[in-house]
Amino acid sequence: MANKISRRSFLQVFSTSLVAVPALLSVKNLFAANTTPPPGPKPVEETNPMAKALGYKKDASTVDAKKFPKYKAGNNCSNCVQYSKLNDGWGKCKIISAGPVSSGGWCNSYLQKKS
Ligand code: SF4
Repeated sequence: MANKISRRSFLQVFSTSLVAVPALLSVKNLFAANTTPPPGPKPVEETNPMAKALGYKKDASTVDAKKFPKYKAGNNCSNCVQYSKLNDGWGKCKIISAGPVSSGGWCNSYLQKKS
């Protein structure tokens, strides 16, 4: 009897972990997105001369829309034609090439990708 309970408990814990572990890992990955730059050159800083000249912001929502009227909500590097994805949070830009740019960034050279 003790063996049956023990086996049942084991199966319950095992089956729960089959669901719980992948779920926890995917939640962890959600929070990891956008925070880990890929290996290689450091991400472009807003103070980089080219980035500064183009009004690059790591977070597109902080763009001064009065200064850059071309900016529209929803425009960001990840949907710009100049962007090549490196990982979920970072990519290469053909214009600002000193290092990776944030997928959620924006600059005045933005050109929307055709879908
Ligand atoms: S050109 Fe496009 S990908 Fe490059 S920084 Fe500007 S908005 Fe981002």
